Amino acid sequence: MNRFRPYYRFLLDIKWYFIGAILCGIVYASTAGALPLLLKKILPALFPSENHPIQPLVFAMPEWLGIGSITIPPSWILPLAISMLPLNFAIRGISHFYNTYLINYCGIRVLEHIRLLVFKKIQKLHLGFFHKNKSGDLMSRLTNDTNDVKNVIVDVSNDFIRQPFTLIAMVISLIWMAFDNPEIWKLLIALASVPLCILPIRFIGKRIRKRSRETLNQAGNLLNRLNESLNAPKEIRSYNLEQEEINEFQKEVKQYFGLQMKVVKYGKMLAPTIEFVGACAISFAVFKASQAKISLNDIAAVVTALYLAYDPIKALGTIHNKIQQGTSALDRIEEVLHAPVDILDPENPLPFESANGNIDFEHVSFHYDPEEAILQNINLQVKAGEVIALVGPSGAGKSTIANLIPRFYDVTDGSIKIDSKDVRNIRQHELRAQIASVSQEPILFNDTIFNNIRMGKLDATDDEIHEAARKAFAYDFIMQTEDGFQTIVGEKGTRLSGGQKQRIAIARAFLKNAPILILDEATSALDSESEAKIQSALETLVHGKTTFIIAHRFSTIKIADRIVVLERGKMIAQGTHEKVYSECLLYKALYDQQNAD
Ligand code: ATP
Repeated sequence: MNRFRPYYRFLLDIKWYFIGAILCGIVYASTAGALPLLLKKILPALFPSENHPIQPLVFAMPEWLGIGSITIPPSWILPLAISMLPLNFAIRGISHFYNTYLINYCGIRVLEHIRLLVFKKIQKLHLGFFHKNKSGDLMSRLTNDTNDVKNVIVDVSNDFIRQPFTLIAMVISLIWMAFDNPEIWKLLIALASVPLCILPIRFIGKRIRKRSRETLNQAGNLLNRLNESLNAPKEIRSYNLEQEEINEFQKEVKQYFGLQMKVVKYGKMLAPTIEFVGACAISFAVFKASQAKISLNDIAAVVTALYLAYDPIKALGTIHNKIQQGTSALDRIEEVLHAPVDILDPENPLPFESANGNIDFEHVSFHYDPEEAILQNINLQVKAGEVIALVGPSGAGKSTIANLIPRFYDVTDGSIKIDSKDVRNIRQHELRAQIASVSQEPILFNDTIFNNIRMGKLDATDDEIHEAARKAFAYDFIMQTEDGFQTIVGEKGTRLSGGQKQRIAIARAFLKNAPILILDEATSALDSESEAKIQSALETLVHGKTTFIIAHRFSTIKIADRIVVLERGKMIAQGTHEKVYSECLLYKALYDQQNAD
């Protein structure tokens, strides 16, 4: 349970609900103690034998209480017997309802907090984390695993207090009966079997923890496959991969099923094992009773109390299993929570409110894996307002250069300076506020066109948004949609064409009006009308901005002031198109090849 301690702070702001739940749980647990007493004391008094009319009911109290005994006169016994059972169950029912209601309230609130904690951490992690971790698995950690952790913090804590109270209520009721008839003490030796139950609880708990981890990992794999499949419906259909996908999904489901059943198997073994130990103890008590002078009523009451005493032990075993499951889930959640945040804000940030846009790459090198250099000793000075086209074969490092400017990754050697300030000395938020980017496959959110453009400047007025759409040549097509700017674009903008999505993304960049611009040219060809419009929009957009164009198809090269050619992470040429074309064989080959296509 110690592992969960840091997360108990989430109960603080709902502590009164939690305390209320626990108190109701204690009341619920305590009412169980009344049942054996009812069997032992009240029922025999209600059904007297012929020779013995109804006698007053005497409850002997322990001597140390110093109050002698409590006597109930015969005329009270019937009303007491009739009302005791419903009263007991009314209290039990109400306290149980409020216990579970309040505990669910606390559970859902705690779950909210844990999910938010993980989500906040995910927002801080750098891009490399998302390349290493599968999105489906992260979703699973945020949904399934957080739920298991919540179970421990709330449900288990509730049971942890409530169940021992049931056990204590039973033991008190047994001791009370024993004071009345000292022969009963002999039967209580059966309780010595309680510690025996710890052995199966520990044995099963260990196995559950291991299996739970495997099950949660597999749940992640399953969600991941689902996520991939839902994200690629077009590819799956165009390559006739439906059956292949079904087979793969079925494989994952089958594996998940197998692992889940192992957890169920171990989990469900516990109750019968404890019941068997309990049954042996009760039989022993019956055997002892047969040798002693104990009435049937007393035996029935003691056996009921002993039987009820094993219920909380079973429940405590289940709690132990839940803790083991929760610990596996917590391990997986903490892998995210404790993941290093590699890109940090500087301790003493330099002021950076508005940039001119002079950018210097000084001996910049970068690698993901130290064995494999991705960029090597890049030296490049870019003046404010200059438009640079990054050209090179696939994998040469063009996108990597663009990713280093907003610090999606940090250089592994050298430095990148904006207006002579190392980007590592600028707050990420301020740095990124000065950079706008248009990626080759712009991601739109499932929201209105208006809100998708507004992301460029959250406090933009309607006029500013309309103006940005006009500049991006998006206004006309937006007005032709059924709801205009209020049209919902669908998940990832699927209700719009590729060219329309690009223009929305360009409108965003117009609205942001940042002095530095990163354009990732679309790899797929657009229709000529769309392409012409995008081209014109970009020509206006880059005006006066320091721009890096990741040129895949060379169609945007004509708006570049300078071309930088990369090959396997090295800068091999730079200059105007004419200069590079005449000096660099690689560039000439790439350019000629594309013009010939
Ligand atoms: P393209 O024109 O195909 O987009 P590019 O020139 O933009 O290519 P980059 O995306 O910068 O190339 O990739 C440069 C190299 O870095 C490639 O060899 C690529 O395999 C590698 N790479 C990219 N991302 C990662 C990553 N997250 N982990 C490891 N290697 C990566």
